[in-house]
Amino acid sequence: MTDAEDHRSVVRRNAPDLGITRPLVTPIWPSVVYASDGPDALDAVYEGRAAGFSYAREGHPNAAALAAKLDWMENAEGGVVTGSGMAALSAILLSLLCEGDHVVGGAQLYGRSLRLLRRELPRLGYSISLADAADAGAIAAALRPETRMIVIETVSNPGLQVADIEAIASLARREEVLLVVDNTFTTPRAFRPLDAGADIVFHSVTKLLAGHSDATLGYVAARDPDLAQAIAEAVATWGFTPAPQDCWLAERGLNTFALRYDRAQDNAAELAAHLAGLPGVTRVLYPGLADHPHRARAARLFAGNFGTMLSFEVAGGRAAATALVAAAPHLPFAPTLGDVATTLSHPLSSSHRALRPAEQRALGLGEGFFRVSTGIEDIDLLKGEFTAAVAAAQAVATAGTQASG
Ligand SMILES: *Cc1c(COP(=O)(O)O)cnc(C)c1O
Repeated sequence: MTDAEDHRSVVRRNAPDLGITRPLVTPIWPSVVYASDGPDALDAVYEGRAAGFSYAREGHPNAAALAAKLDWMENAEGGVVTGSGMAALSAILLSLLCEGDHVVGGAQLYGRSLRLLRRELPRLGYSISLADAADAGAIAAALRPETRMIVIETVSNPGLQVADIEAIASLARREEVLLVVDNTFTTPRAFRPLDAGADIVFHSVTKLLAGHSDATLGYVAARDPDLAQAIAEAVATWGFTPAPQDCWLAERGLNTFALRYDRAQDNAAELAAHLAGLPGVTRVLYPGLADHPHRARAARLFAGNFGTMLSFEVAGGRAAATALVAAAPHLPFAPTLGDVATTLSHPLSSSHRALRPAEQRALGLGEGFFRVSTGIEDIDLLKGEFTAAVAAAQAVATAGTQASG
């Protein structure tokens, strides 16, 4: 065999013939391009008359496999997977808005979503107002004749306010404004926005759905097939495509999603009650606690699923907060959520650091404020670790009071 023939026989050889068997697990298809039989076949694929792929930015099997599962979970059709949660939101805004359109956003949206709305949209000729999503009256008051879209989250971070979704959905329908819901915190296990009247649902799949902090992905689905098509085109055109390996990891993560969610939610409920009883904890925010202002709304909307996120506060300022983190070496101090491990975040120094001090105060974010995303650990272990961490913070707070008093 010549070198040339040798090369030809090695390069671009297809996978082995699997015969009459098939893999149990979705394979990873890293291929960027897909060959076909000729121009007629390619026409058929592009025109949707035949199934197939052409170029990975336009779509690939791993994204399609993951999207089909997320569609099923969200009771959606034709959803698309994107390279991140922010890519999903970007695709929605870039595909459905025109210069001059106005958007009403929830005032407590995820930090980057807020930045996208407030800093990027005005540059593109869209205008934006923010209003409290827990109060449909505030959202209604922010509407203008040119309002095209309302963007809200089911549950806010880190205040854990529950959006008044039923009233906002009727408002959006009446005013013919598109309602876009970020369902990342709640997940389809607890709530399906499209069933509740939203026009579009999106996710950071990076969080609970993938669940292992090893894949950055988003997902978006629209009820109206024309909107879904426009969003899918934007994903391909602006280049918001996900990587096949990430899609594969998320698909594997979904196998255990329901189990992880239920366990993490049980842990959150028990940990919230535990923290509320600890000396040194000045407040606990969890929609399932009896004193939460939106408990009844959360119970109704989410069928009793109060979620996997909670926040709490200790006295003593930055020094106490630092002591709390230092005394909890097994609780990763990390600005993310939805991991299999319980994570601790400090909004003032991470997600909410860019806000003005008055805005931080309005959200009740002091130095002692922490947000917890519960994982699937043994609850007694978690309770013990939080007890020790809070005690360390309280020791610092008490010493500080005595020194200054
Ligand atoms: C993380 C997050 C996003 C952004 O998702 P990425 O995958 O990080 O781009 C959007 N909304 C919420 C609620 C999030 O938690």
